[in-house]
Amino acid sequence: MCGIIGYIGPKDVVPVLIDGLRKLEYRGYDSAGVAVVKSGAVDLRRSAGKLSNLEDVIDNAPITGDYGVGHTRWATHGGVTDANAHPHLSYDGTVAVVHNGVIENYAILKRQLQDEGIAFVSDTDTEVIAFLIEEAYTGDLVAAVRETLAQLRGSFAIGVSAVDQPELLVAARKDSP
Ligand code: GLU
Repeated sequence: MCGIIGYIGPKDVVPVLIDGLRKLEYRGYDSAGVAVVKSGAVDLRRSAGKLSNLEDVIDNAPITGDYGVGHTRWATHGGVTDANAHPHLSYDGTVAVVHNGVIENYAILKRQLQDEGIAFVSDTDTEVIAFLIEEAYTGDLVAAVRETLAQLRGSFAIGVSAVDQPELLVAARKDSP
């Protein structure tokens, strides 16, 4: 079972996300990552393996942000790789998604998006969520998430950040703790 954390507030976001992920380590995981937003752009750091691997990645290539989301992954779709670790970004990089659980109908959704010409960069079922939210997003992130969730089958929890929403993190779950 993975862990999800999101933060908006006055503190430096990366240490808050890492501390939160450390508290969730007991749940078990195989990779970890964070996405933070600064000046309208998302910065992403992810690593397969222990949280300490992610901390090494961040030490080697530091990031700062005003808000963001973090995740510890327990792979169900796609191998344990940096590229499959969460968060996942929408195709234009404006929406970051972390996800716990399984999207049962991801293959059909993925094929529909690929038919529209959208290229996937991971093997996860999660990436479809980020892409669908971006397609539905016209300024109301909650509405875009709702529209996306209506297309998903399975059990899941998600956390969503968007580059133009510095005061909003959207969380949702279905049949998942
Ligand atoms: N199904 C997603 C994946 O394989 C999320 C797994 C999880 O719950 O961590 O990336």
